[in-house]
Amino acid sequence: MIRSADPGVIRPYLKDASNLTGGYAQEVVFPEDEKDVVQVLEEACCTKTPVTVAGNGTGLVGARIPFGGTVLSTEKLGGLKYIHQTAGDTSYAVTGPAVTLRALQAAVSAKGLLYPPDPTEENAFLGASVATNASGSRTFKYGVTRRWVRRLKVVLATGDILDLRRGECLADKKERLFLKGSRNVFELKLPQYRMPEGKHSAGYYVAPGMSALDLFIGSEGTLGVITEVELALIPIPQELFSGIVFFEREADALQFVGRARKESLKNRASRATGQIDARALEYFDSHALDILRPAYAQIPQKAQAALFFEQELPSDFEKKAVDQWFHVCQGCHALLDQSWFSQGMKEHDAYRVFRHAIPVLVNKILRQYNQQKIGTDFTVPNERFFDLFELYRQNLSDSGLRYCIFGHIADNHLHINLLPENDREAERGWQIYRKIALQIIRWGGTISAEHGVGKIKREYLLDMFGPLGLREMAAMKKKLDPCVILGRGNIIPDEYLYD
Ligand SMILES: Cc1cc2nc3c(=O)[nH]c(=O)nc-3n(C[C@H](O)[C@H](O)[C@H](O)COP(=O)(O)OP(=O)(O)OC[C@H]3O[C@@H](n4cnc5c(N)ncnc54)[C@H](O)[C@@H]3O)c2cc1C
Repeated sequence: MIRSADPGVIRPYLKDASNLTGGYAQEVVFPEDEKDVVQVLEEACCTKTPVTVAGNGTGLVGARIPFGGTVLSTEKLGGLKYIHQTAGDTSYAVTGPAVTLRALQAAVSAKGLLYPPDPTEENAFLGASVATNASGSRTFKYGVTRRWVRRLKVVLATGDILDLRRGECLADKKERLFLKGSRNVFELKLPQYRMPEGKHSAGYYVAPGMSALDLFIGSEGTLGVITEVELALIPIPQELFSGIVFFEREADALQFVGRARKESLKNRASRATGQIDARALEYFDSHALDILRPAYAQIPQKAQAALFFEQELPSDFEKKAVDQWFHVCQGCHALLDQSWFSQGMKEHDAYRVFRHAIPVLVNKILRQYNQQKIGTDFTVPNERFFDLFELYRQNLSDSGLRYCIFGHIADNHLHINLLPENDREAERGWQIYRKIALQIIRWGGTISAEHGVGKIKREYLLDMFGPLGLREMAAMKKKLDPCVILGRGNIIPDEYLYD
C-alpha cells in the first residue's frame, strides 16, 4: 500500500467541485484491498487520527476535503468485478468502489444492460455515488441510487467488516438495528426524525423496518468505507426519443412540465405503450441558456426557457409517442420549428452533453472569481412546486446577483446556482440561500436531494432535524466509530460528537 506525506501528492485531495478552500492533511494513503483499509482504520483509531475518504473529487459540498489527518483515497480499491446477466430483470453487477460511472455504464451497456441512475457527472466513482445516494435525470422514472443497491461491503472504523444485503438485517419494532461485524455486534438506535417525502440525501436514512445497508447509503464517508457494491441492472431499452424544446415564455415551459409529468405518471401507472412516458425532464431558465449560448449559437434568440426530455420507446410505437410529444409541444406554445429532436443516438448523446455543459460552465465561472459554489439542492412536495418557483423568483430577481436555474424539474428538484463575483456578493448569496432553505423546510422539503450535506450545508441540516436529530445521529455514529475518526466535519458538527 502506498502512503505519502509529500505535499505535492496530497494537494489534489484538498479540493472537490465545491471550491471549498482551506483543506489540509498530513498524509494520503492508497489501500489496494479490504485488508489495507482495515489496517489504515485500525492505525488511525489507535492514534485518533481523522480519516477522510476520497472518491474522485466531483462532490459539491466539500465532503472529501480533509481538515487534518489522513486522506484514504479509494482509487486503488478496484472497479468492476463481474456482471451476472440473466434473461429477465434480475441481472446485477458486483464492483469495487473505484469504477467511474462512465466506465460502469460502458461495461454494462456492452452486455445490453443499463444501470438506471444517471448522475450528470460521469467521472464520479460508484462507491462515492453510493456514499452520497446520488441521483440524476432518470430518477423521475427509476428512482435514486439507493433503489439499485442490492448489497454492500463496508469497513468500519473499528476494523469490522460488514456484509449487508437488502432485505436482511432489518430494523426491529423498537427502531433498533443489530449489525454483525466480523469482530463485534453493534446495537444502534435509529434517530426519531421523519424523512421528507421524495428525493432526499441529507443526514442518515431512517425508515421503519429499514435494511441496515440503507444506513450507509448517503452517509458521506462518516460511518464506514464502502469496499464492494452489488447493483441491480435492467435490459437496455430498445429505442430512445429525446429533445431540447425551447419556449419564448417561462410560463409555457412550466405548463409543458405539468402536462408531460402528469401524462408520464398516468401512462406509467396504466402501462400504456406508445404514450408519453418521460424518463427525464430537465429544465433550463433564461440565465442558464445565456450561459450556454456562447458554446451553442443555435439556441433560438427568442428562447427564455428550455426543457430536455428523454423517453424510452418500443420501436413499433415510436410514431405514436412522437406525435403525442409534438402535440404537447404545440399545446404549450413551444418554439417547435427551432427545437431539437433526436433522429438517433448521435443527437441523443449531443443533448446529454448539452445538459451536462451547464453545471460544468457554472463551476468554471465560479473558479474564475475564486468563489465557492452556492448551489441549491432543494426539493419540495409536489403540491408546492409552483410555490417553489415563485419563491426562487421573488428572492432572486432583484437580488443584484448573477444566477441561473436548471435541473431535475420532474422531481421538483431545481438547482439555483448563485454566481458571486466577490466575497460581498457571496455573503449576500448565502443570506438568500438561508432564507429559501428555511421556507423549503417549513414546506416539508429537503435541503439536499442528491449532493449531500458535507461541510458546506451542516447548518441547514440543523434547521431541518434540530439539535435532537443531530444528537441522535451523533450517538449512532459513535457506536460504529467510537474514536470519531471518519469523515470529520461532514454532516454532524464536531460539538455534537464530543460530550
Ligand atoms: C458538473 C457536475 C455535475 C453533477 N451532477 C450531479 C448529479 O446529477 N447528481 C448527483 O447526485 N450529483 C452530481 N454531482 C455531484 C457529484 O458528482 C456526486 O456527489 C458524486 O457522487 C461524487 O463522487 P466522487 O467520486 O467525485 O466523490 P468525492 O467528491 O470524492 O466524495 C464524495 C463523498 O463520498 C465519500 N466517499 C467516497 N468514496 C467512498 C467510499 N468508498 N466509502 C465511503 N465513503 C466514500 C467521501 O468521503 C465524500 O463524503 C455533480 C458534480 C459536478 C461537478
